[in-house]
Amino acid sequence: MARTSVTRRKNQTGFAVSVVVPCFNEEEGIAEFHRRLAAALCALPGSGEIIYVNDGSADQTLQALNRLPDEGLCLRVVNLSRNFGHQMAASAGLALARGQRVLIIDADLQDPPELLPDMMRLMDEGADVVYGQRVSRRGESRFKLASAALFYRMLRRLSGVDIPRDAGDFRLITRQIADILNAMPEQHRFLRGMVAMVGFRQVALPYERDARHAGVTHYPLGRMLGLAIDGITGFATAPLRAFFQLSAIVGLMAVALAGWTLYSYFAFSTTPGWPSLMSTVLFFSAIQIFGIALIGEYVGRTFIQTKSRPLYLVQSIQENGKPIKPNRSGRKGSHASGR
Ligand code: UDP
Ligand code: MG
Repeated sequence: MARTSVTRRKNQTGFAVSVVVPCFNEEEGIAEFHRRLAAALCALPGSGEIIYVNDGSADQTLQALNRLPDEGLCLRVVNLSRNFGHQMAASAGLALARGQRVLIIDADLQDPPELLPDMMRLMDEGADVVYGQRVSRRGESRFKLASAALFYRMLRRLSGVDIPRDAGDFRLITRQIADILNAMPEQHRFLRGMVAMVGFRQVALPYERDARHAGVTHYPLGRMLGLAIDGITGFATAPLRAFFQLSAIVGLMAVALAGWTLYSYFAFSTTPGWPSLMSTVLFFSAIQIFGIALIGEYVGRTFIQTKSRPLYLVQSIQENGKPIKPNRSGRKGSHASGR
């Protein structure tokens, strides 16, 4: 691999690459994961940092992490006070990462660390985000595959943000993007959506997703649903908007029934009172649903406002033909944005 410019810039932020690994009950597989990750990192030019985040594991994961050899890398083990969940653990690692580029990877070897050189290459070629896109997923149940497919499609339709399909949180991002994510004040963090909404040059790297090396998934149905709800409500007010459509449908039904009432009154006799009663009920239902929709719209706006996300993000600026960096200092929140 060509020596990358990251080596030269190394001293500015310390490390060429930081790797963030959220770990929850991974005692069985973590040593093998570390061996493979460290081998991949050591083969790269520049210095590397690994940040293991122990997310309140109930087993011996923390002890296992503390026993790992550093292999000449900077090895940090961050121990969270309890289980905060995958997204929070990854966010914690991201906030602590000091590298020029940051890789987020699962600890269960479903995402092969050996892809790091390819990801680095794509970034050398100009990508700001390189995300692993699963072309196949070994060792996953049919139900998990079907529910994941449904989830990604729904999210894309509802949110308007183009969240890549079949991509998890296995991503290499630049320091600039890491700073932007760290500056986002969201409480419910759905990282892959947040990365997608940021924009910049995002490139997919197709890969075969392996079966878990050891242990079991920590995303059973309930948690998957929780993540899906975070994804959808965090990125879309479309469900609230649906009330507008509902009120229109019910209103039309009221109008149609009122017409039917008049027609039947003159044309033939029906059960007395039924059509007029129904159209009155539908009419007032439509008004009520419209009211809910209106309140929903205001709630939605407050919700988006409280997120205080940047209005836009500047990718690059040229001054007299020379590029100036929007986030020269790389400080938290210093990226050029329209906030
Ligand atoms: N994980 C975590 N906290 C949790 C659940 C999971 O840090 O509460 C970690 C886990 O150790 C793994 C990654 O998040 O490194 C992905 O979890 P998992 O493999 O269970 O999810 P799946 O691949 O089955 O979707
Ligand atoms: Mg996994």
